[in-house]
Amino acid sequence: MFSGKEPFSLYVHIPYCISKCPYCDFNSHVVPKIPEMEYTGALLKEMEFHARTEAWRGRSLKSVFFGGGTPSTFSPASIGKILEKSDSLFSFAKDIEITLEANPGTVDSAHFSGYRSCGVNRISIGAQSFQSHVLEFLGRVHSAGETRQALRVVQQAGFENFSMDLIYACPNQSLSDLRRDLDEALSFHLPHLSAYNLTIEEGTPFHIQHQAGIIRSLPEEIEISMAELVEEALAKAGLERYEISNYARAGFHSRHNVNYWQGGDYLGIGAGAHSYKRIQNSGALGCRWQNEKIPGRYLERIGREERAVVEEEKIDAGRAAGEFMFLGLRMIRGISLAEFSRRFGKKPRDFYPQIGAWIKEGLMEEKAGWLRLTPRGLLVANSIFVNFV
Ligand code: SF4
Repeated sequence: MFSGKEPFSLYVHIPYCISKCPYCDFNSHVVPKIPEMEYTGALLKEMEFHARTEAWRGRSLKSVFFGGGTPSTFSPASIGKILEKSDSLFSFAKDIEITLEANPGTVDSAHFSGYRSCGVNRISIGAQSFQSHVLEFLGRVHSAGETRQALRVVQQAGFENFSMDLIYACPNQSLSDLRRDLDEALSFHLPHLSAYNLTIEEGTPFHIQHQAGIIRSLPEEIEISMAELVEEALAKAGLERYEISNYARAGFHSRHNVNYWQGGDYLGIGAGAHSYKRIQNSGALGCRWQNEKIPGRYLERIGREERAVVEEEKIDAGRAAGEFMFLGLRMIRGISLAEFSRRFGKKPRDFYPQIGAWIKEGLMEEKAGWLRLTPRGLLVANSIFVNFV
């Protein structure tokens, strides 16, 4: 039974980047000088505020995730201050997972050793590709050589738990480019890898170029072959697919992200960060809020009021059930039918009668108390997920 005092996850958003990649719709900003000290001070203040509230007081942390933007633009000293404060305000669970996203080219070996000494125990490297024409197309500021160096340094610094992001299905990428990327990634014996197919997001330079016909998406059958190649190569190397875009060896799943996909509570601090907390009253089942996105305005708000929330909404049972479905079905094992009934008092089919048809079409299956997408269903996951929104 949900008591409201379970351990939760903390997300820390560092919104600064060295340059803006043309496909990126994250809350990331390029500024002449990153105000690292001021921003770190604001994060500490915001955390102190939340630690005094009923929602988070007295609860411990099971994971911390530094995401961005580019968190590796911040020094180990600043990351250490944030971790020290979060431990003193909330206290870390014994097996806490602490992840920091790092971009090749922004960090040297002293940085990685420093992050490790201050408590970071998982690094996620934004590699994207080892092919220079793909990196150039994606507007990445680092070279493949810098990625190789970053991966070597992460291992030398003693990180056993590390991950890397790859992007595939770029218009100028062939199946053999992708095969070379996978071979090279696997040569580092990664315990975790995220592989995303390129999506053209509204409001990005790629979207404008796509609309104008300057860049074209790959034909669907090539995208499917690429997705199949990713899964096959990673499975052969012992990395099991556990979420649509995530693969891991046993015991190395991202616990922070699994908490999102299972509908657990998380507190987000920093510019544009989202938070979610389950509640058990007034007919609502959850509450979500979002911080001011623009870093300068976030800093002003924190300076004045200690919090920077711009949007807050109650999540009713119907919406919470839909979110539970589309987040849980991202995971390969799917959703537990017992857990769904416990939370919402009904079966998934009572909310979504289409489930019967999807099962008949071979897009979903129900086995041993779990409902999941089949391999065919995973290929068209987004067209199924829209039914839960
Ligand atoms: S480095 Fe990451 S967060 Fe920054 S602009 Fe590129 S994709 Fe976006």
